[in-house]
Amino acid sequence: MTTGFELPEEQEGNKPAPPVAPDDVWGAPPPADLPPAHPPEEEAPVAGAPPTQAELATPTTANAPLPWESTEGTEPGGSEELRPVDLVRKWILDSVPVLQPIELPLQEAHGCVLATDIVAQLDLPPFSSSGMDGFAVRAVDVAEATPQNPRQLRIVGRVAAGQQPDATVGLDEAVRIATGAPVPAGADAIVPVEQTSLQGEGVLVLAPVKEGAFIRPAGQDVKAGGLLVPRGRRVAGPELGLLAAAGYSSLLVHPRPRVAVISTGDELVEPGRPAAFGLIRDSNSFTLFGGVRDAGAEPFLGGIVRDDVDELRETVLGLAIRADCFVSSGGVSVGERDVVKKAFFRRAEIDFYKVAMQPGMPQGFGMIEGKPYWGLPGNPVSVFVSFEVFIRPALLKMMGRHDILRPEVTAILETDVSGPKEKTVFARVRVTRLGGEWHAASTGPGQSNLISTIAKANGLAVIPPGTETLPAGTKVRVMLFRALEDDG
Ligand code: AMP
Ligand code: MG
Repeated sequence: MTTGFELPEEQEGNKPAPPVAPDDVWGAPPPADLPPAHPPEEEAPVAGAPPTQAELATPTTANAPLPWESTEGTEPGGSEELRPVDLVRKWILDSVPVLQPIELPLQEAHGCVLATDIVAQLDLPPFSSSGMDGFAVRAVDVAEATPQNPRQLRIVGRVAAGQQPDATVGLDEAVRIATGAPVPAGADAIVPVEQTSLQGEGVLVLAPVKEGAFIRPAGQDVKAGGLLVPRGRRVAGPELGLLAAAGYSSLLVHPRPRVAVISTGDELVEPGRPAAFGLIRDSNSFTLFGGVRDAGAEPFLGGIVRDDVDELRETVLGLAIRADCFVSSGGVSVGERDVVKKAFFRRAEIDFYKVAMQPGMPQGFGMIEGKPYWGLPGNPVSVFVSFEVFIRPALLKMMGRHDILRPEVTAILETDVSGPKEKTVFARVRVTRLGGEWHAASTGPGQSNLISTIAKANGLAVIPPGTETLPAGTKVRVMLFRALEDDG
């Protein structure tokens, strides 16, 4: 398995560094020296038009605007040129900011990426404690003890977990001690209770113990000043537990982006409502809701917006206060009802273009109020694939994550898969592991309205441009979008 490319470690605030290029599976490799799409300042990035292959091949002078820094809007129905998937994705990833860190309580920080190194203020554990129920002793006093020749010690005190010892341990003395209780001064070992028997005011020790036996020393886990968890680490249960043990109750992390999900279309109704003939249920909102939440971000539904330019503009701007980014579906192609383009193209912040992929060709991306906006096509499979290819990795970057691509496996195709030669085809497949090898079977025809084909699938087979049909038996790369153990 591979996880594709990683973003560099050193990222802060809105300072996205250019990601390392992925390999060539999604079309032409991007040039190695592609500069960032926006200046690495704290201000919100500005997205320009995604670069075309031809533009990238043209050398630019230092002062000339780079192709993707253009401030010109693209007219509706504009550039017909197909843009390679990997270039569009790189442009998007360069354009989205890593969200500024905020302080969150431990529970809410779960799943987020630490924005700072966290060091131990004190030794961990903070004091030497007993690892057993028994007696705190001086090892030298019981060195000769055997069951036949036990050593008798005076019990001079007792200490339970959470208490301070009420005595110190001197020559031939013992303090009764519970697991987790602080070791009294003078003692250098614990005799487990099983190796003792009580006798009057004293205790008989039946076996010797080594110095340090069953004592958990202060600072054994992490010394004061030592690194507990490094910056850039995603906080899971073990990190939360460690940081709680060290006394942290809140953490400075990159927050989860709040993602406004909007569906456009006069034909759409909410799932719980009756759908008159000709109307269809809004499924994209829910596909996207699930995808955003699975990515660890926070989706909220902005609802269905009619094919009305003003309504869409108002809705989006009204949601801006609650959202870190927007995803809409529908209305980005050339039909007269394609409102997303009409609503935003004049603002020169959103660009609309065609990606050399199937499904998901017409797309829009840019910034509204300094926040990323993705305008996806309406067909349900296009929505899913576009989310997986462009939006999920971008959301992970916004959260400060480094491994932002889905894992991939190489699988043997069990069915022929075909699509347009000039595009990267993402074919829905079900992947299984048989006899040490991965196998991928198509879950249905390629049309982008067939939503059950994604519900049945757990992977997207990636067929690079230049190939029309991959016959059964061919090896193909598959992005896994469900962990196999999460499947049922
Ligand atoms: P559009 O990109 O708006 O032309 O939509 C393309 C196709 O996707 C049309 O058949 C729409 O009815 C369908 N579609 C658009 N939005 C949704 C949605 N939210 N849920 C399900 N299908 C949709
Ligand atoms: Mg529409």
